[in-house]
Amino acid sequence: MSQGTLFIVSAPSGAGKTSLVRELIESLDGIQVSVSHTTRARREGEVDGVNYHFVDVPGFEAMIERGEFFEYARVFDNYYGTSRPAVQAALAAGQDVILEIDWQGARQVRQQMPEAVSVFILPPSREELERRLAGRGTDEHAVIARRMRDAVSEMSHHDEYDYLVINDDFTTALDELRALVVSRRLTRERAGATHAPLLQALLA
Ligand code: GDP
Ligand code: ADP
Ligand code: 5GP
Repeated sequence: MSQGTLFIVSAPSGAGKTSLVRELIESLDGIQVSVSHTTRARREGEVDGVNYHFVDVPGFEAMIERGEFFEYARVFDNYYGTSRPAVQAALAAGQDVILEIDWQGARQVRQQMPEAVSVFILPPSREELERRLAGRGTDEHAVIARRMRDAVSEMSHHDEYDYLVINDDFTTALDELRALVVSRRLTRERAGATHAPLLQALLA
């Protein structure tokens, strides 16, 4: 069996990456999203172990000390990180894995795994980004203002990514993301391994 592909998905807060990734993994088999650890407060409706593993700062720092993170970063004054073992096990089992992480984490992942495929999701305008952040109704005014301020600096890193997807019409953006995942499965390396018995029979 060949290794799964590691996908990095980044976007400014509110661009729609969580909604897109959720739909994407529901519409395809063999792909999963990595559940990050974070020190940020849980939002209403978020479930520990599903949206994030919610931990306190000493707990997170202990994980850093033990080298348990594949990557981690401070984003909006909180720690966020991807633990290494779960991602490695899934990739080794041939599953595709999506990391929803910021640009700092993306850099750390590319250094360790240059073959990772990275996608940056952009909103159709600044006004629409602000509408989505406010419309989501999960964050306080001050938090939204902070996230809008940080959006431009996050977006300035779009040129470090392999692919850009504009999340204007949701279905179009979802189709584009799905096309990306499927195309990686059709590379000769991946498809050749998946269809090894067929190739053997055809060439016998
Ligand atoms: P949302 O993007 O508005 O839903 O806000 P979140 O609080 O869920 O995420 C905030 C930021 O943290 C985003 O830029 C994420 O990409 C980033 N982030 C989330 N999880 C991780 C992680 O495990 N590692 C890194 N490096 N960044 C993360
Ligand atoms: P992120 O994870 O990037 O912060 P979310 O997935 O939480 O973003 O989306 C932010 C808000 O925007 C949510 O309320 C979501 O329903 C909405 N949203 C996402 N994509 C679209 C779209 N294409 N058109 C309109 N609203 C959208
Ligand atoms: P939120 O707090 O709104 O859920 O996420 C804010 C930002 O943190 C998002 O833009 C998200 O990409 C980033 N983020 C979430 N998980 C991780 C992670 O594991 N690592 C890194 N580096 N960033 C993350």
